[in-house]
Amino acid sequence: MNLEILSQDDDYEFMDTKRRTIQTESGEEVVLDGVTDIVDWYKNLSTLPNIEHYDVLIYLLHYCKWPEQRLKNFKNDNGYRLFLANHIDNVEISSILREEFVYVKATCVPETRQSGTPYSVWILIKHVSGEIASAGCSCVADNGMCKHCVAFLFGLSRCSDRHKDRGVEVGTDVECVWDKPRQQSVPMEIDDIDTRINTSKQQPILPTGTTFQPQIKQLPCTKKHFKRI
Ligand SMILES: [Zn+2]
Repeated sequence: MNLEILSQDDDYEFMDTKRRTIQTESGEEVVLDGVTDIVDWYKNLSTLPNIEHYDVLIYLLHYCKWPEQRLKNFKNDNGYRLFLANHIDNVEISSILREEFVYVKATCVPETRQSGTPYSVWILIKHVSGEIASAGCSCVADNGMCKHCVAFLFGLSRCSDRHKDRGVEVGTDVECVWDKPRQQSVPMEIDDIDTRINTSKQQPILPTGTTFQPQIKQLPCTKKHFKRI
């Protein structure tokens, strides 16, 4: 059987259309404009949906297919570390599309080449529930699962939390903008840097000047012991 082999461009177009396809309340399937087609962006994030931590975890579990163990250890994941190191900035939100969805976009400073061109990341969110619909990025992966998207997701969840802490829920009229990171990268203790390829398991504690506590086994000092020496 001769089946047509789809080119990579076709694959990409299919995936790109799929992640912009939403189902409206009435059950109708609609393809939203792509992020690059959206003209109006706002730095005031007061219309940002409330994104709970579990919204992020559900996305990682169902969309990114993270195994349970990786989810449990999300704090060791590169995406979470990028978010902690303030690599996400320039966050902007679109107007509400089809009365139900919003895009949020941001830049993400590359992990290794911090002076390089930042990646552009975006996330499509259901406006009322905060449910994450899909995501994308200008890096080669661009499948909504890369560490830059993950960093942005955790960043948005933290942003929602902060507004709740301040008693200023997102979704009110109060002006709120993305808190500018104090620095691009937070210096880490050498012991805390995880260079392993597989980071799903807890990092083993290596003996260093701060963690190594040698204990000398005390031998009983008996007559027999001296005889042996
Ligand atoms: Zn990426």
